[in-house]
Amino acid sequence: DKNEMAVRVRTQIRRKRYQDALKEQYQKSVSMALTDGLTGLYNRHYLNAHLGNMVKYATKNGKNLALMIMDMDHFKFVNDTHGHDAGDMVLKQLSDIIIRTARSTDLAARFGGEEFVVLMPETDSASALGAANRIREIVEATAFVIDKDGQTIKRTISIGVANLMEAGDSAEGLLKRADEALYIAKNNGRNNVKVAVKTVPNGW
Ligand code: GH3
Ligand code: MG
Ligand code: MG
Repeated sequence: DKNEMAVRVRTQIRRKRYQDALKEQYQKSVSMALTDGLTGLYNRHYLNAHLGNMVKYATKNGKNLALMIMDMDHFKFVNDTHGHDAGDMVLKQLSDIIIRTARSTDLAARFGGEEFVVLMPETDSASALGAANRIREIVEATAFVIDKDGQTIKRTISIGVANLMEAGDSAEGLLKRADEALYIAKNNGRNNVKVAVKTVPNGW
């Protein structure tokens, strides 16, 4: 009868709502596993998984692949002077700069606290150096907002760049050489971009 019909419809609606909620929860947890909560960029875990695939693909197809790793200069100073929330705001604005400057085929990830990695397929050393310097210059020119009153501070960034083709690298080797270049960029006085040295390819 009518009553029974109404109960059935209500049950169906409730079941549908429950399923939608489950689905939303699932999608949220999947994206949480892949991305970083503060910046929305991919996280280190996702980068590591993807880097392996991209190195394999590039090696197999004779394609180039560049990687840059960047690290804010004296970021501890921001936290110590203006507080952790101010630091978080700076990191969020830096990630916006990284996303804006990246091409659609690039993969940008938050690698650690204030370290970011951008993977650039089919990019040679000179182009990667250009891309890194563009980010460095934009950061240098940016007034980073650090509170709700709109107070701003200036910051700089250092970047290490490495290229797959130049060394016949593995994923680990590519990251390691970029990280070594970053270390040299820091020692060169920061606000600096350094390209990794070429090494003799495997089997030569
Ligand atoms: P350097 O120029 O050598 O890179 O100096 P630095 O101060 O940036 O380097 P250091 O590694 O000593 O400090 C990094 C700081 O970043 C320390 C840590 O508290 C801070 N940090 C890491 N993750 C976060 C975060 O999510 N939010 C904030 N606000 N700070 C963070
Ligand atoms: Mg660091
Ligand atoms: Mg730093």
